[in-house]
Amino acid sequence: MDKRAKLDALKERMEDDKTLPLRYGATQLVFGEGNAGAEIYFLGEAPGYYEDKAGRPFVGLAGQLLQKLIESIGMKRDDVYISNIVRFRPPGNRDPEADEIAAFSPYVDEEIKIINPKVIVTLGRFSMNKFLVDARISAVHGKKFVVDFLGKKQIVLPMYHPAAALRSSAIMNAINGDFMVIKKVMSDRDEGIEVGQSREPQSQLSLI
Ligand code: URA
Repeated sequence: MDKRAKLDALKERMEDDKTLPLRYGATQLVFGEGNAGAEIYFLGEAPGYYEDKAGRPFVGLAGQLLQKLIESIGMKRDDVYISNIVRFRPPGNRDPEADEIAAFSPYVDEEIKIINPKVIVTLGRFSMNKFLVDARISAVHGKKFVVDFLGKKQIVLPMYHPAAALRSSAIMNAINGDFMVIKKVMSDRDEGIEVGQSREPQSQLSLI
């Protein structure tokens, strides 16, 4: 099975999984979208109003900003893969809860395994905390980390959520600068490692 077929099968399994939380208040599942062979995988939070209606991630105002940011580094939306840690819209766009994030997590892991990206860019604190448990986004945004994830050394680049950038010009400046880091990380990825902290005691997380 190629990557696209594997993603389609994964989506079907999620659609059939009646145990997933938030399903009954949402219009539809919002699965990940983009290039199955992408080197960059963006991981956001949860679908909002427009995503819930369209069945596609990041199509509202935050999505339009994300697309502009992707274009600012000479790429197109179709070049990358865009997804969320939670795949049904939480009521009233509230924050996802820990047990909801946990319920979707095996599917997110499988999706990442299929894409096998060089870099995971987390958007906002919820997706950041999947990899950097106690990190504060104000301290780590735009910095490159390496985590042991699904049996490989995975580069993770935490960033502010585009919706936060729409509310604050300081965060807008930060996210503009952080996107330039993606370019740098894609071109030189094999530098030295400093040890940080991790969710799993056996896995090592590093800041480069
Ligand atoms: N915010 C997110 O985190 N994800 C979306 O898909 C849209 C807005």
